[in-house]
Amino acid sequence: MIYDVGVVGAGFGGLAAAATLAKKGMKVAVFEASNELGGSAGKFERNGYRFQSGATLGMGFEEGGVLHRLFDQLNIDPPAMTLLDTIMDIHMPDRTIHYFRERSRWYEEIQRVFPTQSSAIQSFYDEVYRVGAIVDQLTEDLPVFPPRTLKDFMHLVPFVNKDAMKLLPFMNQTVEDRLKKYSLHNHRLFRVFLNGELMDSVQTSVEYCPAFLGYAALQTFHKGAYAVHGGLAAVAERLASFIKHSGSDLYMRHPIHKVEKSGQHFEFHTKRDRVFRAQKALLNNSVHNFHDTVSKEMGEQSYVKALKEEKRDSWGAFIIHGGVEGAVFEGEDAMYHQFIDPQKPDDLHDGGQFLMSLSDPRDSSMAPVGKRSLTISTHTSISPWWNSEKYEADKEQMKNRLLDTVDFYFPSFKEKLDIVLPGTPITFQKWLRRKNGKVGGYAPTGKYSWLNSYSIRTGIPDVYQCGDTVFPGAGTLGVTLSGMTAAKEMTR
Ligand SMILES: Cc1cc2nc3c(=O)[nH]c(=O)nc-3n(C[C@H](O)[C@H](O)[C@H](O)COP(=O)(O)OP(=O)(O)OC[C@H]3O[C@@H](n4cnc5c(N)ncnc54)[C@H](O)[C@@H]3O)c2cc1C
Repeated sequence: MIYDVGVVGAGFGGLAAAATLAKKGMKVAVFEASNELGGSAGKFERNGYRFQSGATLGMGFEEGGVLHRLFDQLNIDPPAMTLLDTIMDIHMPDRTIHYFRERSRWYEEIQRVFPTQSSAIQSFYDEVYRVGAIVDQLTEDLPVFPPRTLKDFMHLVPFVNKDAMKLLPFMNQTVEDRLKKYSLHNHRLFRVFLNGELMDSVQTSVEYCPAFLGYAALQTFHKGAYAVHGGLAAVAERLASFIKHSGSDLYMRHPIHKVEKSGQHFEFHTKRDRVFRAQKALLNNSVHNFHDTVSKEMGEQSYVKALKEEKRDSWGAFIIHGGVEGAVFEGEDAMYHQFIDPQKPDDLHDGGQFLMSLSDPRDSSMAPVGKRSLTISTHTSISPWWNSEKYEADKEQMKNRLLDTVDFYFPSFKEKLDIVLPGTPITFQKWLRRKNGKVGGYAPTGKYSWLNSYSIRTGIPDVYQCGDTVFPGAGTLGVTLSGMTAAKEMTR
């Protein structure tokens, strides 16, 4: 048989696209290399714990949010989840900032922690909310962005209205440029805080982050951050089950090693020499892997240039999956904790600052009774891991740096751990097939860096791409949006 669409990868992008296509009556085949769904937002189980492979914080589930719209369109319920009143606690050597969802509580907190410049910071946040809302409005109709074809430009014309015009100044400035307008660029503490939030969401810091992208990410936290019961993998499981119930097929443990054009359709070759056929192809296995997946002829036809691609930098992640006695965090409201290393508070990566996500104590699927499963992750530079002659020692050292920092803020944490599983970019390549362990898409490198983004188009007729290496970039919300945009274009 010939499928309508073949999708490579069952990450959030591929699953969102496949489910949307299946809803529209298309016969889809999704090929997933591993035996887990959700890729970087998947899970694995060990010793009675359920660990989240990477992503932990769910967003876009509020009314009108991207995931909410997806589940609405599919007419299925999302998994149970806890809406977080405290998005996260940010632990700094001399204070803890409670990052509240509700605007009024957040503004009160700003007054408490940044008393001397609180009104400037609140005005800055007024702008964040205002501009973020315009970006949301624009993305709702799923236009192809950045535009690549005349058709893409034509589709953008209706969006060129008064509101969109208001966005223009934020498309040629960085967040730092905006901080200068509020005389906040030298406010060290606020910068450390903001850099932490931007690294978590946009993978970069104030000086390199295009303002409109940074603002959209910052306001998203306040629209609703969620701890999904069963982890974000539970979302992937729902989408997968919808795809199967709609009559489409999901092939687990089916790594695709080549996609090539054959006559009017595409052939998907698996490692076990099985060949599947489809009219169209959607690649969700990251642009980093593009040239390893498509045939040479297709590679030459594409906008994605192998040489340019190799030179573009991406972060890796150092991760620790762990299990801990629940008592250590007794009385703590927050499930998400960002830590700033007291020794090196300005380091943005490699342990200088990092996020620890604790499982929801109300969610019994994540850990044995009285325990909590946790994920600690920090951005890391990739090449040292691949070139290290003392890989195991480096891994041990990074693990200790992270655990020591948590222990500094929560004494007795280390002794209450009963399982600790560290992972490096090498782990991410092995289990999630992220080339060289690159995760989180392309970090913005300046005010115009968004112009270098890949859209869902590959430049090859009937071949599309989605996921965190495609605009708007990393995060389960962003990749879901790219999957929905791809599905919309494939059925236009
Ligand atoms: C440490 C870490 C923490 C994060 N935290 C958050 C967070 O808290 N909240 C959030 O929203 N986002 C977070 N993110 C980002 C988010 O996880 C990713 O942006 C998103 O999950 C990527 O989805 P994707 O669709 O691009 O594909 P991926 O998740 O990369 O999935 C691609 C899938 O394709 C499969 N595949 C690869 N090659 C092949 C092949 N040849 N054949 C078949 N299958 C193949 C892989 O096995 C994988 O399942 C985090 C990321 C990391 C790494």
